[in-house]
Amino acid sequence: MTRKSAKSKNDQQRIIQQLLSIVSQVVGENPAVLHEPCFNGKEWDYVKECLDTTFVSSVGSFVTKFERGVAEYTGARYAIATVNGSSALHLALRVCDIQAGDEVLVPSLTFVATANAVCYCGATPHFVDSDEQDLGISSTCLRDYLNKIAEVRAGICVNKYTNNPIRALVPMHVFGHPADLDGLVSIAHDFNLALIEDAAESLGSFYRDKHTGTTGLAGVLSFNGNKTITTGGGGAILTDDEFIAAKARHLSTTAKLSHRWDYIHDEVGYNYRMPNINAALGCAQLEQLDEFINAKRLLFTTYKTALSGITDLAMLEEPKHARSNYWLQAIKLQKADLSFRNAILKALNDAGYMARPVWSLLHRFKQFEHCPRSPMPVAESLERKLINIPSSSNILSYNQRSRKLV
Ligand SMILES: *Cc1c(COP(=O)(O)O)cnc(C)c1O
Repeated sequence: MTRKSAKSKNDQQRIIQQLLSIVSQVVGENPAVLHEPCFNGKEWDYVKECLDTTFVSSVGSFVTKFERGVAEYTGARYAIATVNGSSALHLALRVCDIQAGDEVLVPSLTFVATANAVCYCGATPHFVDSDEQDLGISSTCLRDYLNKIAEVRAGICVNKYTNNPIRALVPMHVFGHPADLDGLVSIAHDFNLALIEDAAESLGSFYRDKHTGTTGLAGVLSFNGNKTITTGGGGAILTDDEFIAAKARHLSTTAKLSHRWDYIHDEVGYNYRMPNINAALGCAQLEQLDEFINAKRLLFTTYKTALSGITDLAMLEEPKHARSNYWLQAIKLQKADLSFRNAILKALNDAGYMARPVWSLLHRFKQFEHCPRSPMPVAESLERKLINIPSSSNILSYNQRSRKLV
């Protein structure tokens, strides 16, 4: 080992100790998970109402109420509630007419559900690189890349190398930070791509004045247990398009025609509708959404202030022109360094503070190895820079409480 790297190992150890002490000051309680739900509202009352009235399943007033609440909050004309975010993504792609043989542009740096949904339609995910700042699909890289590999023939964007139509673009708003929607909308327009937003992580995040998931033809939310609000499991499709909304609703309820007693289904549908008991939880959670987001934004500033003396890493901040929900807090190393990243992960987890790297890049998984992709310099470097740290919206209040006890 050279003297230089020995010195930098010592520097890294010192930084890790500083970081540990900061995280333990901010988070306080130990062990701390990455993200836990908070049920401080009317959850018990609403769920009890489901049990008392026996409306626990696919019929009941909470589903409609939840859909209305989500639509109102996001500004989408329609919201269709589903059993989870993955099924919402699948349905959104289906109703936007993604078919077998199509290619769909998705980031490699995303949760696997984004690419899985493309495969559920028989289509092929086509992976693209990310932006260094907002972690979403990079619109500058994507435009250069499409100019090289694609051309619009008779109104259809075609991959010149595979001859398959590239039908849609599915950006994802990573950790709640909005991707560059202006740039992506302009690409979708120029290459005639359907824009479908995976906004699973970004309920409560706005790009300029518009809620994420409401810019494209359709958008998707998730209410999984680790998301900003939860219905246990759940998701929603957002759209302003009346036809897409009606089709999504129809397909999510086994494509059954409404009739007083007959079972008539006019195509192959799905059992994807959110049950009433989950929606009851969702209605109570939605009432606390602004509170959760304020707490997450405060947690971000608290971490940021505490970390400001360390030069080798920084908190990931919301992009310009955006207001993020700060769903997951992330530390970003100044330089990509896998062994430093892993040493930090080990130290935090050993100390009882759950920390995770970003998802492994999807294009390397064996089920996606054959899929077309752009060069990935930024995503590959981000993979070695990003660490998520405890992010629950109740962290600061727990910490205050435990401090009062001392
Ligand atoms: C959570 C999430 C989903 C949906 O997940 P479900 O667990 O099916 O609700 C989809 N995409 C991304 C990026 C997610 O983080």
